[in-house]
Amino acid sequence: MAMKKFKYLTGFVFLTFLSFFILSKIGQNLPETKLNIQKQTGITDRKDIQISTIQTGTFETLEGFLYAGGSFFKIKKGTHNATLISHPKGNLLIDTGLGRKVDEQFLEIPTVFKPLFGYKKKLPAADVLAKHHMKVSNIVLTHMHWDHASGLKDFENPNIYTTSSEYQFSESVDAKPPAYVKSQYAGLSNIRFIEFTDGPYEIFDQSFDFYKDGSIVIVRLEGHSPGSLGIFVNLSKNQRYFFTGDLTWSMAGFHNRAHKFYVSSLLVDTDRALIEKEIVGIANFLQLRPEIKVIPAHDHNAFEVLNQLKE
Ligand SMILES: [Zn+2]
Repeated sequence: MAMKKFKYLTGFVFLTFLSFFILSKIGQNLPETKLNIQKQTGITDRKDIQISTIQTGTFETLEGFLYAGGSFFKIKKGTHNATLISHPKGNLLIDTGLGRKVDEQFLEIPTVFKPLFGYKKKLPAADVLAKHHMKVSNIVLTHMHWDHASGLKDFENPNIYTTSSEYQFSESVDAKPPAYVKSQYAGLSNIRFIEFTDGPYEIFDQSFDFYKDGSIVIVRLEGHSPGSLGIFVNLSKNQRYFFTGDLTWSMAGFHNRAHKFYVSSLLVDTDRALIEKEIVGIANFLQLRPEIKVIPAHDHNAFEVLNQLKE
């Protein structure tokens, strides 16, 4: 009897490993594509703009859950950041990271998903910025998922920028935990919609130049959520950053042209075909513009190139 149980157990473990192995191969090595890069609008040296990032929380996961083809034997550290662009026309924050009420908000996430989204929180961005006597005039959300919008209500009435498609979806009955937690943005009157009025930019057909000086340029990134955004921050021709939200969860997603782990992607992405188009386009674009540092929202290493603002 014990022998029979052992056989079943061995079979179960073997099948689990086999399924993970097969699933981990789906969506890697996506095909390359031909690019049509648009002329950049003027990028000048901007010594008057500083960029610094605040780590509001961390998590640990297996590399294989972050991108297709990643190892299930390697532990990777992930991050939840808010990034401050200090600009003479007003401080702008990219995402909020985990806010003061994150523990309360996390209670709204169904128990079955909780192990996937565990976090270790640090001081919220609003508290770190208050210690440095810094105010935020504008917040731009890469998208409105709970781990990006968690701290919205911690700030004193800044303008909050997203797209109308993202906001409309976030208000709909289809927006629910684990992706959207409505208490984070319910009742906010300071939400503004980005209109892409500034024409083609790099590989993107439309853009919005936030301060009309080429320093912060926002583009649409399709496929993760209905209105996700990518944000270019240009401090000089050679110091350029591209915040890509949750299009991928790691730089390897672009460097290896790989989706997220298949099951994770089915859970969190709106449209895999659109994501694939974006990943492949950006992967090739980064080869042509090696000066640009790509910063996926949860890649711990990607944020290390930025000045860290600590308590
Ligand atoms: Zn996220």
